[in-house]
Amino acid sequence: MGEVNLSQVLDQNRSFVDRVIAESGQDIRQCYQCAKCSGGCPGSTAMDYPPNQIIRMLMLGMKDKVLKSQTIWACMGCNTCTTRCIRNIEVASVMDTLRQEAVKAGYTDKAASVISFNESFLWTVRNFGRLFEAGMAMMNNTKTGNFMKDMQFGLPLMLKGKASMFPHRIKGRRELKNIFEKTCGGGK
Ligand code: SF4
Ligand code: SF4
Repeated sequence: MGEVNLSQVLDQNRSFVDRVIAESGQDIRQCYQCAKCSGGCPGSTAMDYPPNQIIRMLMLGMKDKVLKSQTIWACMGCNTCTTRCIRNIEVASVMDTLRQEAVKAGYTDKAASVISFNESFLWTVRNFGRLFEAGMAMMNNTKTGNFMKDMQFGLPLMLKGKASMFPHRIKGRRELKNIFEKTCGGGK
């Protein structure tokens, strides 16, 4: 690997770093690199960089490496890192902001399954007011082309009353629709 001028990289991407700090509300410059966040992270085995390294790369302005990482999509938002951080940095919020930045920058090739799942989940909430597991699974499988994925769990879950063939609709769906329209233009 060739030499990297870190000061230059930070200068080039300072506005990106400032934006992540502002939008997440987390001053990542306070990080000590103690790695306690990574030590407790249940998603770390699926990540290419542990959370503390993402924070460090962010401090150094390494925008492309951070936004193209598998880490930000493997993070499940469990907040374990946040509760462990000795500097009270909400690492999960930083991850959330980075996912939004990655989508804006078009770096979504590692995120197709996560985005598909999120859209399918929100589709059921927007239409019925609550999660409809069977509908979400069918929509997600259709979007990803894995038509039979997890189908073996459907019947046992229904027999145990944990999932239903039909959606439950809440009252106040009009209000819910308004919320979706105000927050994301109605969503997909
Ligand atoms: S929120 Fe994400 S980064 Fe933090 S511990 Fe959970 S999976 Fe790991
Ligand atoms: S736990 Fe907090 S201070 Fe320690 S490395 Fe993670 S973000 Fe930095």
